[in-house]
Amino acid sequence: MAGVGLTPYQGKMRACGMFHCKKCDKNWFSANSWANTFQKCKGCNGKIYPYKQFQPWKGTGARKGIPPHPQNLCQRCMKLGRFCGLTIRKYMAEE
Ligand SMILES: [Zn+2]
Ligand SMILES: [Zn+2]
Repeated sequence: MAGVGLTPYQGKMRACGMFHCKKCDKNWFSANSWANTFQKCKGCNGKIYPYKQFQPWKGTGARKGIPPHPQNLCQRCMKLGRFCGLTIRKYMAEE
């Protein structure tokens, strides 16, 4: 099933994602969402893929009202074992 998109966004960059768990009727937003990457629902621990994704706003730094990135719920963070928002290139240079 290679090449099948699990998320609306299929690029390599970070995207903002809107998530919705049907089971819990829970909505949340993440400024760090990635193609084909789920985040876990806090309510049921289910793997939820974003139903909507868009490019992050220009500029850096957290915007007001955006909660800290839930590393324990993010598939990419779990894979990396650390915060997924930093660039991979930086990690490689450091290691
Ligand atoms: Zn849920
Ligand atoms: Zn993450």
